[in-house]
Amino acid sequence: MKYEVVIGLETHVELSTESKIFCSCGGHSAANEPNDCVCPACSGMPGMLPVMNKRVVELAVTAGIMLNCNISRYTTFDKKNYYYPDLPCAYQITQLNHPICTDGCVTVKTSEGARDIRIKQIHMEEDAGKLVHSGNSSYVDFNRTSVPLIEIVTQPDFRSAEEVLAYLGKLKSMFRSGGISECEEGAMRCDVNISVRPEGSEEFGVRTEIKNMSSFEAIEKAIRYESQRHIDALEFDLEELVQETRRFDDATGKTMAMRNKETEADYRYFPDANLMPIVIDDEWLEEIKANKPVAVDEKAEQYREVGISEKEIEMLISNHKIARLLDETVAEGCNPKDTAAWILTDCAGVLRKDGKTLNELDMTAKTLAAIIKMVDSGTINRNAGKKVLIAVVEKGVDPEAYCKEQGLDRKVDSSAIESVIDKVIAENSQAVEDFRNGKVKAMQALFGACMKELRGAGDPAMIKELLESKLK
Ligand code: ADP
Ligand code: MG
Ligand code: ZN
Repeated sequence: MKYEVVIGLETHVELSTESKIFCSCGGHSAANEPNDCVCPACSGMPGMLPVMNKRVVELAVTAGIMLNCNISRYTTFDKKNYYYPDLPCAYQITQLNHPICTDGCVTVKTSEGARDIRIKQIHMEEDAGKLVHSGNSSYVDFNRTSVPLIEIVTQPDFRSAEEVLAYLGKLKSMFRSGGISECEEGAMRCDVNISVRPEGSEEFGVRTEIKNMSSFEAIEKAIRYESQRHIDALEFDLEELVQETRRFDDATGKTMAMRNKETEADYRYFPDANLMPIVIDDEWLEEIKANKPVAVDEKAEQYREVGISEKEIEMLISNHKIARLLDETVAEGCNPKDTAAWILTDCAGVLRKDGKTLNELDMTAKTLAAIIKMVDSGTINRNAGKKVLIAVVEKGVDPEAYCKEQGLDRKVDSSAIESVIDKVIAENSQAVEDFRNGKVKAMQALFGACMKELRGAGDPAMIKELLESKLK
């Protein structure tokens, strides 16, 4: 029999905020040593109360807008009770009854075509701490406790590992470009829910949940393994499938049972009376919308419209730092298509020579715009512009000052060029003679001599034309 794999994802994303979700401790990335970023509130001291971080709400709403969700105007927090040493309050503050976003949708593209994945909800919650085991001892590190997370829950709409990876890749570029999360290693973690059913069947099979996966490669392997295990179980009556929580072991490439699936009742959820319900009014929502960065698809479309190539769009979409440099340079008045070439071809080329990548580019939009504008206005030609760019990238010079210093910015009109050409012709009688006798190559030598004399200034096309007409 042929089987269809059904997958639903719960994805936790650590938000890029300056402080934790309910206290003013810095995010755990600010910490150097274990328990560096800890206060009485996030370490669960008796009597301490949570205070909502407004920015968390704004980022969660932004994510919801990007994923085409309904934004709840009234949203509340609940306590999810369980005991574990990395959870100092013995409950996690999360959202059960009124999550901040519901009913979204995102399109993923794979080699099989495009497909819409429904988003069930997005909710806000706090992360737990970390246990560190060493020898016979276990240590607890609360730096990550109360770091803000959003959890994005999809409907069981994925039908392959490829779709899952396309979805996660899309979330990643969306959240990076939106300043929602840097999605670094470990900052995006998934619970993968899997079941299989005979092809054509409408009914869902028994599902298992693989917890806490953060590498794309492992997710793919885990889906392959787990779906095959389900199929074998059904096909050969090997084992009875039960709804349970499993973990993936990277070393063996297998999943293993961790515990029976807990139900909602196990957690004794109840409303957190320490936190007021949050009301998002029109004014606040409009403000968040106005600040919303454009989503990836829209962004790609914008770049397409101004003539940026697909290959360049791909590079820009996957690198928000570079995309931002482009956007800001364009905002300074430069042409988008040209600017893309300056960044993705010229800057990348200069960096490549030093064994670096665009990620290491350290240039402001103002500086890049200054170079481009000098070229566009004819103050310097493109070759000279490239020289300036190299100096800026390698030595961090000021472009305008560098031009003056190097004499690259001489405004060269045709009469100046003509006098240089006359001089070159007078000084290179042999080459001139050769050219007139049909040696086309001699032209190149004369052109080079002119360029040298002009020290890279002047428009090469114009120089060539004037030189030719004079020789003829
Ligand atoms: P719970 O409350 O038990 O965690 P949810 O209804 O919230 O269950 O679903 C959790 C995740 O499991 C969702 O992403 C959902 O899409 C997915 N899911 C539910 N049923 C199935 C199934 N039969 N096969 C695969 N995934 C499923
Ligand atoms: Mg769940
Ligand atoms: Zn704290």
